[in-house]
Amino acid sequence: MRFVTCSLPGAGSGPAILSPDGTAVTPLHWLGLDYDTLWEAIPFLTPQVRSGLSLALTGLPSLPPDMATFSSPIPAPAQDVICLGINYMDHSDEAEKYSAEAFATRHQDAIYFSKRVTQAVPDGGFIEAHTDLVQKLDYECELAVVLGKDARDVPAGQSREYVFGYTILNDVSARDVQTAHKQWYFGKSLDGFTPMGPCIVTADEFDTYPPRLGIRSFVNGEKRQDSNTGLQIFDIDHVICELSRGMTLKAGTIIATGTPAGVGMGMDPPRFLKPGDVVRCEIDGIGSLTNTVRG
Ligand code: MG
Repeated sequence: MRFVTCSLPGAGSGPAILSPDGTAVTPLHWLGLDYDTLWEAIPFLTPQVRSGLSLALTGLPSLPPDMATFSSPIPAPAQDVICLGINYMDHSDEAEKYSAEAFATRHQDAIYFSKRVTQAVPDGGFIEAHTDLVQKLDYECELAVVLGKDARDVPAGQSREYVFGYTILNDVSARDVQTAHKQWYFGKSLDGFTPMGPCIVTADEFDTYPPRLGIRSFVNGEKRQDSNTGLQIFDIDHVICELSRGMTLKAGTIIATGTPAGVGMGMDPPRFLKPGDVVRCEIDGIGSLTNTVRG
């Protein structure tokens, strides 16, 4: 099932279901679920509830997507996004080449950091260049995991039931700000630095866990990243089990699982984003997320 957040004429703004073929949108409140945000609804959208919703949808009216204005599925996450750093081997190589001091790792332990997302950027929205502050603006196409229920002390191999679904997240990064400070937080968290969407696809839509999905990005139509989420060094099960040891991960938690090789700092010479550039991120089974850099 695909969940979006959108505003519709006569239906207000809020969470909605997008049909599998993408041709119909049904607000959740038409199904008797009066949640203002998808974040609030997620703990209640269990597999059982979703089965019921699927049945109920067949008898309900819907609206065509071109009548809707889409936001990011979770436009204002209640907590910072948890991110994995250096989680694909080929990206590790390119990052270390760019700055061994900032990125060298022996991969013994996962690298976690967080990203402030005051307002997630929707598909079609703008990445803010912050040219007064940032000279080295970069993109990172990532698979983001959204948890469906509170997770604490999850045993290895048993994290699947905690995953609500997946979306695409572009972990936009100011390399100069990121590496100037000891921690990456500031350089990852500027306003307009988190395109996320276009929808959340529930985990049951994917055969494998963790899912092995083609992941790609393009800048102005030129392919830059082309990999598979099955190549992650620390997979989703490892991450949820490890992070839930002694720390409660709330339902709705978003975890960005790292980016493969092909980012701007990895090119020779590095090629950073500038105003007017168009970045498209794609993940098989989810869709694409296209954003223009704005100066
Ligand atoms: Mg990243």
